[in-house]
Amino acid sequence: MKQVSTILVVEDHQEMLSMISKFLVEHGFKVIGAKTGEIALKKYKKNLPDLILMDIMLPGISGIETTKRIREDEKSNNYLPIIMLTARNQVEDVVEGLNSGADDYIIKPFKFEELIARIKSSIRTKELYDKLRDQTLELKDANQINFQLNQSLIGKNKELRKKIYDLHNIFEVSLELHAILDLDRLINSTLLTLIGQFSCKSALFLFILKKNEQRLSVLNSKGYKESDIENLKVEKSDKLYKYCLENRGPILLNNLPKELKDSNAISELKELYIELISPIAVHKREAALLCLGDRVKSKKYSKNELEILGTINNIVSIAVSNAHLYDEVIQLSYTDGMTELHNYRYFEMRLKEEVMRHSRTKQEVSLIILDVDFFKNYNDTLGHPAGDEVLKKLGVILKETVRENDIVARYGGEEFAVILPDVAEEGAIILADRLKEKVEQNKFPNQEIQPKGNLTISVGVATLPTQAKDAKDLIYKADTALYIAKNSGRNRVIQFSN
Ligand code: GH3
Ligand code: MG
Ligand code: MG
Repeated sequence: MKQVSTILVVEDHQEMLSMISKFLVEHGFKVIGAKTGEIALKKYKKNLPDLILMDIMLPGISGIETTKRIREDEKSNNYLPIIMLTARNQVEDVVEGLNSGADDYIIKPFKFEELIARIKSSIRTKELYDKLRDQTLELKDANQINFQLNQSLIGKNKELRKKIYDLHNIFEVSLELHAILDLDRLINSTLLTLIGQFSCKSALFLFILKKNEQRLSVLNSKGYKESDIENLKVEKSDKLYKYCLENRGPILLNNLPKELKDSNAISELKELYIELISPIAVHKREAALLCLGDRVKSKKYSKNELEILGTINNIVSIAVSNAHLYDEVIQLSYTDGMTELHNYRYFEMRLKEEVMRHSRTKQEVSLIILDVDFFKNYNDTLGHPAGDEVLKKLGVILKETVRENDIVARYGGEEFAVILPDVAEEGAIILADRLKEKVEQNKFPNQEIQPKGNLTISVGVATLPTQAKDAKDLIYKADTALYIAKNSGRNRVIQFSN
């Protein structure tokens, strides 16, 4: 239902005021009267009319002044039409009145029909104005919401683009890393990738370098001097390592639980400015530790970055496990299944390498070849399985007797070879004698059935460059010495001599 419009009539002339009021009420308006400008100002504030009829000539402040003050006071956005009432001889004042903020004027004496027409027209204008204003406000709100939506879409878009970029990177890393089967190269590439991806100043990879070793050592590092990291070890018994096995995501060193405080590894890693460690599962129950140092501009790792690192970690885990498996296959192909010593293939390869090294360093290389005496007899009498046990035991004695650098291999059926890098004749003879003694003294089961009542070996020794010029020659000379040892009574060491 349409609301009744309220009109404030400002007219000092009582008779005129009554007439106008009566007429307007008859036409369905609500009327408030005011005889002076001052009263008009008060009533306008109190009643907030929809329209004002304003006589120009008033006692006290004039209609023009009153209009001015009303316009100055108007705070709301409501449009309040003001129609001035003016006498024919005051027409000049109309211009001033319009300038002061009035919207229309009507000259007295006027026909009431004209007055009502002007009022209705002004009120229509006001209603239109109000509607337009409301719509503008609504539009403004909608616009604001639109703007915010747009901003958030732009933000989301940026985020998505970053995610796509990261995924692309991860994909590339994955392709690259999975193509590498050599563990050293793989780790090298991993460290370089991570340094690039996270702009850290240093990185290192801790790994259990030898089977059954109880500590992790540095397999590869970036951004450190050799002397900084050569002594770095993380014991498998260290609390940090255990924690890493249980928590497979990237770990910020500064966020570790208090119980780990007395971990040696943590303080050593912190000294190297390591900020983040990422355990890499290699075998089900073992982990390598990928450690990242502080970052360029001391940037902190964000949640998103940690997630990415977690993903890269899984890729590295699989790649490292593959490389490790590959390593093991290679190892197996170089290992003699029965004695777990190196096989002939490995022996051949290593001997060539050592001889090549000799041509650079001029360090001697010695070779020992040994053969079990009367082994056919042992086998024939006690059976092949008993013979196998002897070969295994010989493998153990050999490994126990040589130094770490020496290379022990099963050369043939019951023949063994030991390559001694950097060992000259005297050293080789000493070792060969020790081997011969140990075998002689070892009590092999039922060895008394052997022709001389004991299971023994004969040993040939030769050295490069004194007695041989190359790998093939060295084998030939050691073999010749062994042949001489057999022919001169067995259970002895013979050094090749021209
Ligand atoms: P010699 O003192 O001259 O070396 O006499 P020998 O009997 O040891 O020499 P021969 O070469 O005639 O025999 C080598 C024997 O080694 C033949 C074979 O029965 C045995 N043999 C070789 N490989 C294996 C193996 O893997 N297991 C066992 N049980 N015996 C082997
Ligand atoms: Mg033989
Ligand atoms: Mg033999």
